[in-house]
Amino acid sequence: MPHPNRLALIAHDNLKPAMVEWAKKNRARLAKYKLIATGTTGSLLKKELGLPVHRFKSGPLGGDQQIGAQIAEGKVSLVVFFMDPLSPHPHDVDVKALLRIATLYNVPMACNRATADVLIAAKGLVPSAK
Ligand code: PGA
Repeated sequence: MPHPNRLALIAHDNLKPAMVEWAKKNRARLAKYKLIATGTTGSLLKKELGLPVHRFKSGPLGGDQQIGAQIAEGKVSLVVFFMDPLSPHPHDVDVKALLRIATLYNVPMACNRATADVLIAAKGLVPSAK
């Protein structure tokens, strides 16, 4: 059973502006979660949102794997990962592993903005929306 209120946020470099914009638009919803993130995404969101964000390592340095480990331990309820499908990444295998582990543990995972919009608005996923 996933932890009820931990949201993992990750954005590839080209999608970081889109992530910041999306997160600001959904700030009130995000504030209901305990936020965790990969390093650079987390720093950016902490600064832009003024919300606490627990940061793991940067994605290319193992941050995606750390988030995957959190999923395996049942500590993540939702993942929003703004992926860049047009650029090569040195840590592609880590991203694939994260997708696999989220699939295995049945954790909702949005990989683009349209899906993130749907998931963040889903009442059952918002901790305090009873
Ligand atoms: P970052 O990692 O937030 O440290 O940039 C994201 C990624 O590329 O996986």
